[in-house]
Amino acid sequence: MLNKVFTYISSLINLLFPRCCTVCDSPLVRGEDFLCTSCLLNLPRTNYHLLSENPVERLFWGRINLIKATSYFYYYRGSEMRKIIHAIKYGGKKEIGEVMGRNMAAELLQQSNFFDGIDLLMPVVLHPKRQRIRGYNQSEWIAKGVSHVTDLPIEMHAVKRVKHVETQTRKTPFQRWENVQQIFQLEHPERLEGKHILVIDDVVTTGATALAFIESFATLKEAKVSLLTLAVAAQ
Ligand SMILES: [Zn+2]
Repeated sequence: MLNKVFTYISSLINLLFPRCCTVCDSPLVRGEDFLCTSCLLNLPRTNYHLLSENPVERLFWGRINLIKATSYFYYYRGSEMRKIIHAIKYGGKKEIGEVMGRNMAAELLQQSNFFDGIDLLMPVVLHPKRQRIRGYNQSEWIAKGVSHVTDLPIEMHAVKRVKHVETQTRKTPFQRWENVQQIFQLEHPERLEGKHILVIDDVVTTGATALAFIESFATLKEAKVSLLTLAVAAQ
């Protein structure tokens, strides 16, 4: 009886305040979260996890030894994925990060052995000041979604961000590399020693931020590192 009342109330709320798709704005039906099924199916996937030597892995060649690296969706100017990333990063919609993390992990799990051997998830940390302003770390929310599907634990405190860097959108690639040197510091090596760490981030562009993050713990003796991002910036 009580269940029926709840269902009735939630239908009524939906009728009065319909939840809408982040991309196309059409009303969502039950079971859809933030994105309608058609928009989710139509987001451009890279399928990089099915390629050996994919373009994301290549970004790090000669710089750091990654076991595997992939980005799940394409992110380019004017694309639907851009709306989603903006909602996650600047629109306060952290929950979309979790939903997208879940979708990505479920598909990766179904199509590949990408998560085999991974011990823990490590979202790229934000500077405390940036996190206070935004109210959350979007990569942590993406990691929550991945963790929900894979049951892998999330490690948030082994590395600290010590330097705040200004927004990078107007910098040349070379300036970006310079800018992110040593902005992360390894605080708890014992939490990572001997583990295969999967670093999680929202978007990879030049790879500079992810690289700086990974370099902060790459000195560990036994650790292995892989990288998974929700999207890759494409031209
Ligand atoms: Zn839609």
